[in-house]
Amino acid sequence: AATLDTAFFAAWIEEITRSVGAEKDRLTRLDAAIGDADHGTNLDRGFTAIAQALADKEPDTPGALLTLVGSTLIRKVGGASGPLYGTAFREAGKALADVSEVSAAELVGALEAALAGVQKLGSAAEGDKTMVDALAPAVRALAQAVQEGKDPREAAEAAASAALAGAEATVPMQARKGRASYLGPRSVGHEDPGAASTALILTALRTVAAP
Ligand code: ADP
Ligand code: MG
Ligand code: MG
Repeated sequence: AATLDTAFFAAWIEEITRSVGAEKDRLTRLDAAIGDADHGTNLDRGFTAIAQALADKEPDTPGALLTLVGSTLIRKVGGASGPLYGTAFREAGKALADVSEVSAAELVGALEAALAGVQKLGSAAEGDKTMVDALAPAVRALAQAVQEGKDPREAAEAAASAALAGAEATVPMQARKGRASYLGPRSVGHEDPGAASTALILTALRTVAAP
């Protein structure tokens, strides 16, 4: 099983950066349908800046690394998703404190803190057609898998599947938060871009946790 050390978290962030770069046009197309067509470029700008910051100096602990990721997202991404994802990563980093090896249970705690941060800042509930619709089921699936004694690889698999299903489930929803909510019923029939990017982030976790 993968050891959840700083290198593991750096690999996760690197894989997110790669996949956001590869999928930025799809994310922006989703945002063109129900938003302002910038979600892919917003995230790509943020993760590109993170890659540069990590190339300069990789933090010593997983918590410090996630905190740096969050702060960079807040500075570089803008819009709704910058502060929300920035808060998510910062809260996750804060939850990990200064441990150097993260247990599966600590990973669950970090992602629960990330979700709580997103909901405190954005006050979206599940069903509002936002990133919460992918993140909340992913965190639940991860927590359940770990509670059942699954290893991090299997737990990440469960989380990624739940996030993908959660993103898919936003298609028939009517948006109640963010720009898409301005469209009212016309927001129905499109996948939420933030839910789609959350699924990418959890899929990247599954990729790096695989043996
Ligand atoms: P903006 O809408 O400011 O252009 P982005 O396009 O980068 O920002 O991000 C849009 C995404 O942010 C949405 O698809 C949605 O998932 C998420 N979002 C917007 N508002 C909220 C909120 N209040 N709570 C949670 N997520 C939100
Ligand atoms: Mg947008
Ligand atoms: Mg915008």
